[in-house]
Amino acid sequence: MKLKSIARPKILVIGSSNTDMIIKLDRIPQPGETILGGEFATAAGGKGANQAVAAARAGGDVTLVARVGQDMFGEKALAGFIQAGIHVQYVTRDPAAPSGVALIFVAKDGENSIAVAGGANGRLSPAEVNKAKGAIAGASAVLMQLETPVATVQAAAELAARAEVPVILNPAPARVLPDQLLKLVSILTPNETEAALLTGISVTDEATAARAAAELRARGVETVILTLGARGAFVATASTEELVSGFRVKAVDSTAAGDVFNGALAVALGEGRPLLEAVRFANAAAAISVTRLGAQPSAPERKEIESFLAKSNGATRASVSCK
Ligand code: ADP
Repeated sequence: MKLKSIARPKILVIGSSNTDMIIKLDRIPQPGETILGGEFATAAGGKGANQAVAAARAGGDVTLVARVGQDMFGEKALAGFIQAGIHVQYVTRDPAAPSGVALIFVAKDGENSIAVAGGANGRLSPAEVNKAKGAIAGASAVLMQLETPVATVQAAAELAARAEVPVILNPAPARVLPDQLLKLVSILTPNETEAALLTGISVTDEATAARAAAELRARGVETVILTLGARGAFVATASTEELVSGFRVKAVDSTAAGDVFNGALAVALGEGRPLLEAVRFANAAAAISVTRLGAQPSAPERKEIESFLAKSNGATRASVSCK
C-alpha cells in the first residue's frame, strides 16, 4: 500500500490514555507492608496518547481516537492533548468507567512494580472507531497499539484497508494476534519481546530478527520494523532486509522509546519519505527521548530531531532508499 505524500501528514492514532502515578521510594513494599517517605509524581501516559504526542511534536497533524473517564485524570489528559495540538473530537468521556491509571512504584535501585487499571480504555469500541470513519479515510496513516480491545483494532484496520490507508500497528503490550488482523497491517513494529511472543522465535540478534520478521511477513504483514533498543531497527519488506543502526546517546530513561519511535515513524512515512530514511528519522527521535526522563515529556520537537540528524553526520549509515 502506498502512503499518500503530503507536507504535514494527517496521522490518526487510535489507542489508550493513562495517567501514571509514580511513587519513588527506598524499596518496593511487600504485600501487607506500608512504607513511608516516598516521593509522588504524576505523568501523562498510555501508549496511544504517548504516540499521538510524539507524532504531533514530530510534525504530524494528529487526531486521537481514545476514551477517558469523567474524572480529573480524564480532564487533565484532554487538556494535555489540546496543548500538544492534537485534535480531540474523537476523545470520548466515558460516563461510567474511570480514566486509565497506572500505579508505579520505583525503588532506589531502579526496580519497579506496576499495576494498570485500563478503565475507559477497555471500553473503546468498534462503534466508536466507526464514528471516526471519515477521519480514518482521510488520514495519511492509522497508528495503533494493543492497550485497547483487539476487536476495536481489527475494526479500525478493516476501515483503513477499505479506504486504502496504511495501518501501522505497534503490537504492544505483547500478545498473540490473529492472522486476519496481521493481513491488514502495512507496517508492524514489534520490539524483541513482542516479536518473540508473536512468532515463538527468540530474537537476540540480526539473524533471529530476520527470521521473526520473515515469519510475520508470511502471516500477512507487508513490512516488519523490529525495534532492537540501542541497536536500532531491523526492516524487512518484500525487497529489503536491513538493519538501520541506532544512534549512540547517553540513555537515562528508555520509557516510551518505542512510542516515540512509532509516532515519528508515522509522520516521516506520511511525508512520503523512503522507508529506510523514515526509520532513521524514528531512530533519531527515539534516541533523543531516551536521554530524557518520562514518557510524553521526553518526545522531541521536529526541530530537535532535525538538528540531531544534521549533527550526527555519518555516525550511522547513510539512509538508503527502498521501495
Ligand atoms: P520498546 O521501547 O518498545 O521496548 P525498543 O527498546 O526496541 O522498544 O526501542 C525503540 C527504539 O528506540 C529503538 O529502535 C531505537 O531507535 C530507540 N532506542 C531505544 N533504546 C535506545 C538507546 N539506549 N540508545 C539509542 N536509541 C535507543
